[in-house]
This record gives sequence, C-alpha cells and structure tokens, in this order.
Amino acid sequence: MTSPDYVPAMKRASAIVTDAGGMTCHAAIVSRELGIPCIVGSKNATTVLKDGQTVTVDSKRGVVYDGRIALEAPAQAQGGIAGTVVVAGGGYTTGTKIYVNIADVDVAERVAQKDVDGIGLLRAEFMIAGLGVHPNKLAKDGRSREFIDMLAENLRRICSAFDPRPIIYRANDFKTNEYRGLPGGEEFEPKEENPMIGYRGCFRYVMDPTVFKMEIEAIKKVRNEYGLKNLWLMIPFVRTVEEFEKCKQICEEQGLVQNQDFKLGIMCEVPSTVIMAEEFCEAGVDFMSIGSNDLTQLTLGSDRDNGGFAKYMDERDPAVMRSIKLVIERCHKHGIPCGICGQSPSVWPWVAEKLVEYGIDSMSVNPDVIERTRKTVASAENKVMLRRLAELTKKNSCDCGCGCGSDCKCNCRE
Ligand code: PEP
Ligand code: MG
Repeated sequence: MTSPDYVPAMKRASAIVTDAGGMTCHAAIVSRELGIPCIVGSKNATTVLKDGQTVTVDSKRGVVYDGRIALEAPAQAQGGIAGTVVVAGGGYTTGTKIYVNIADVDVAERVAQKDVDGIGLLRAEFMIAGLGVHPNKLAKDGRSREFIDMLAENLRRICSAFDPRPIIYRANDFKTNEYRGLPGGEEFEPKEENPMIGYRGCFRYVMDPTVFKMEIEAIKKVRNEYGLKNLWLMIPFVRTVEEFEKCKQICEEQGLVQNQDFKLGIMCEVPSTVIMAEEFCEAGVDFMSIGSNDLTQLTLGSDRDNGGFAKYMDERDPAVMRSIKLVIERCHKHGIPCGICGQSPSVWPWVAEKLVEYGIDSMSVNPDVIERTRKTVASAENKVMLRRLAELTKKNSCDCGCGCGSDCKCNCRE
C-alpha cells in the first residue's frame, strides 16, 4: 500500500499496482490526480512481480500482463491531464459550479487553464508530507516557520493560478497509519487498530491544535501578505457541532474571521453531520461539502482501505444517496450552499445527474473528468428545467385538449 511519503516516487511512476486498498484509498486518489494508471487491492502484486520485470498495466480492466503488450488504447489516455494543456471553455454553461480536487501544486497550475470554477477540495496532506518531517516534530524543534512558509508558498502559487476563482483548502486530515511513517511521526501518531475511524480530522485540532494553528498562519500569510483573498478553509471529518465550534473559535482567536470574502465550511462525511446538518448551519458554517468517500464507508459500515469491502463501498447505495439528498435539503432550508467533493460524481455520471436533481450547488471532481462532468451537469440541468416547465404548463393549461391555455373558459377542470 502507498502512503504520503511515497508521493515523490509515485510522480515518477508509469503505473502503480498495490497489494491492498480500495477505490478511495491513498494510491487510488493520488494516481487519479496525477493521471497515472493504477490497480489497487491485487493482494499479491509485491510477491508475484519481480524487480526489473517489464509489465504492462491495463488499469481500465484491472489486468497486469507479463512483458510489453500493445493495449488498444493507452490506459493513460483516461487520465487526460498528464502533460496536456486544455483550452478553457468546453462550450457548456452550468448553474452548478464545477470545481476540481487537487493535492499537488504542479497539477493545480496545469488544471487552472481548464474550464473549471475553482478548487473544491485542496488536500493538504501531500504538500505537508513533502516536507519530509512530521509537522508536529518540526513545531517541537522550533521550526514552525519552515512549515508555514512552505505551505504559504504552495498556496500562493495555487491561489494566483486560479485567482479570482475560490480555493477551498481542506485542513489536514492525517490518518495515524499514514503519518506515523514520516520522520519523527512515531511520537505523534499512536498505533491504532482502525485509523479510518481514529485520531483524525477535526478531533485532532481540538486535542492538539499545533498543526492546525500553523495551517491558519499560512492561510493568513496568503490572504493578508500576498493579498490573495480567494482562499477559504474547510474542516474535515467533523463529528459533533461542539468540535466545529471549537475550530471556529481557534480560527477567530488566531485572527481568521469569517466575512464576505473568507468562508469557513465543513465536510459532511460522518453520518452525524447528516443527522445534525441543521444544527451545523445554525452554528455558523458558511458551506458544507459532502465527502462521499468517508460518508459511504461510515454509512455502510465498510472500510475504504480494504479491497474486500468493495461491495459496501458503492456510493450509489440508496442509503448514501438519501443521506446526500437530506443534507442538501437541510442546508438549503438555512440558505447554506452544499457541494460534494468525494469521488462519487467523478466515477459515476449517474450520480452527477442525480445530484443536479437534488439541487446540489457545486461538484468537485477529479481533473480528468472536468469536461465530462460539465457536459453531464449541463444536460441534467436542462432536463430538470424542461421537466419543471412541463409541470408548470400542465398546471396552467386545460386538460380537455381544447388548447385554450391557462385562461381556459371551457370549465373542463371543474
Ligand atoms: C471524502 O471522504 O469523500 C473526501 C473527499 O475526503 P478524503 O478522501 O480525503 O478522506
Ligand atoms: Mg474524507
């Protein structure tokens, strides 16, 4: 399985094959963003494949061939962004904002040229891992400045590439198993049986705000010193309203206060945030973004790192879809925008269509499916409008077929 310290090596790889992991595991997320073919959960790749062996990876079908095989279409073509410059303006206009999920600065600068409305999920973890030392260790050694300057510089590059489109920076969502491996990590990352439901997300900031505060400093530097105001903040894996309130308080104490051009939102990925969505709105979230990867895992009681649970990691499950619909409705009741940044609409155009029907405000998708999603959403919005128009016309017109329209005088409706 890969972990954040593998990212520099992953960037150089032609393909990635792992023993473990599911469709939203670390290897899957990173390779999708980098446009590298990837097969996860093979169970035995590291024993069957030998060093120096030439293989061909068909990531579309999940097959590894011995030797160099000509595939009918290069698997990488699906990725689409590796080295490609795409001219903005795919010809479709949508009311729903189409954002992109990003974890890497170089990828961000390339993707900024596309017809995309901003970054709906900027994952912090890979940039932070790029420092090569656990951030708590840096802070303990009095080297917080290095962290703040590195993060601020990365954010500056991304924000200026996308300016004035919004960048939603998602504060760190370290998982203990992934970050324990970073130099100095053992002291700060306890060994856990179930890291997916462990010491992660918002709870961390409440227990130990050190890293969160350094992230806030970096955000302030970008907004105040560099004058890039298109940078917002999103809190991951929130479990309770109290946790959110505590984070909001930390932000305010550090001088990062919500206003017209600084928005503070949360991810909706623990089922408690679906159930308590209205209370979160009342507690002052500016937006919610559905993390369908974690929401699926926790709604269906599965494990996204365990390939054996693929059956229960299907985001199209009616329980997951109903939860999403509920959150959107509850947010809208309070005038709060609700988007999605989990990979579900990136994988399933059917989900993207349903989300439009539910009235979602934004979809943040993988870089390789921006154009396809824009097109799917445009067509779904048209269908919704046509349906509404038909309903409206039906309501206002006469049923008897006399064709006299809304001011019917034939009394057929009486
Ligand atoms: C999610 O859970 O859907 C999400 C986008 O966050 P991550 O995949 O980083 O956990
Ligand atoms: Mg998540």
